[in-house]
Amino acid sequence: MKELTIALLPGDGIGKEIVSSCLKVLNRVQDKVGNFYINFDEVHAGAEYYQRSGREIDESDIMRCGEADAMLLGAMGLPDINFPDGTEIAPHLKLRDKFGLFAGVRPVKSYPNTPQPLVDSRARLIDFVILRESTEGLFASRGKGKVTNDTIAEDTLVITRDTCEKLFDFAFRLARKRKKNGGRGEVTCVDKSNVFRSYAFFRKVFKERANLNKDIKSTFNYVDAQALYLIQRPWDFDVLVMENLLADILSDLGGGLVGGMGMAPCGEIGLSHGLFQPAHGSAPDIAGTDKANPTAMFLSAAMMLDWLSEKLNYNDLETAARLIYAAVHEGFASLKTQPNELGGTHGLSEHTDAILAIIDDL
Ligand code: ATP
Repeated sequence: MKELTIALLPGDGIGKEIVSSCLKVLNRVQDKVGNFYINFDEVHAGAEYYQRSGREIDESDIMRCGEADAMLLGAMGLPDINFPDGTEIAPHLKLRDKFGLFAGVRPVKSYPNTPQPLVDSRARLIDFVILRESTEGLFASRGKGKVTNDTIAEDTLVITRDTCEKLFDFAFRLARKRKKNGGRGEVTCVDKSNVFRSYAFFRKVFKERANLNKDIKSTFNYVDAQALYLIQRPWDFDVLVMENLLADILSDLGGGLVGGMGMAPCGEIGLSHGLFQPAHGSAPDIAGTDKANPTAMFLSAAMMLDWLSEKLNYNDLETAARLIYAAVHEGFASLKTQPNELGGTHGLSEHTDAILAIIDDL
């Protein structure tokens, strides 16, 4: 029996609600697969915690997160609770920096019977991953930009060779893994290397790593063209790797392509740590109404189990991950889950119960 500890950070708004649903799903797959046991170590952090304590997260709790096998997070931040300088409460950014979570893995996949904003029937085939560099790029300037004489504002974009090499190697490994499951086996470098030296350097290092990974096809697009292609033919892409801000923007576009942010899971992965959370925020507009779509949360938990199975070389965790992926797919295919977010009639509780019943039947 493998025993695991997961640091659990429910956070704010719908974060707390979808994490509570997710715990039921994780417990159910654990009972079904057996051979592993998860201890959840709950950590209080986020905007509400800041309001109560004056701290967004405690230093000792950051250490607890680091000691856990993985971190599972709901959503953090509320529009009315900010730091005195007006910036948002975002403790997950601290965790990202502290644990070097450079690879933001954001799958974009369409599910059966979900509304497709694109009329082309091939939109059903959308299945790509945006790999977001998450520790530098333009975000390296967060809190450091300067405004001079109320006349000029400057922020600096930083690209380092070390992070690029780790990121691109991660991208090729991801494409290789996806290829085994029918993926195209292709990594596309997305940048603006025709204009900026930093992006040209990003592309240069990408080419170097591509030369070491020749079993995987490598292609390039400028970000403006990539935005066009993601509307014209998103089913043609596999793994798209890019700088932090470019990925921040294109991953919301990706969420939109498959119905909404409630469909967008995320894994933030470093060399030794992993944090998993839906890509959406705390959605205060629907918090407390039982309307949240938990799909992104469930898929993020499945990504966590998948990552843990590789990290710990423990196959039962991958079996548990597959069970969640299959239940989510079956929920949409059989119309047993039709979330409010996508125009359906199922609230969070009904949706969760349906997924639990499907897991029992699988
Ligand atoms: P943040 O900046 O913290 O990421 P945001 O401004 O992008 O937050 P979200 O909280 O992600 O905002 O919400 C954007 C919109 O999407 C809101 O209308 C919200 O209700 C909706 N939304 C987000 N996540 C979900 C979900 N899981 N289920 C249903 N609706 C959602």
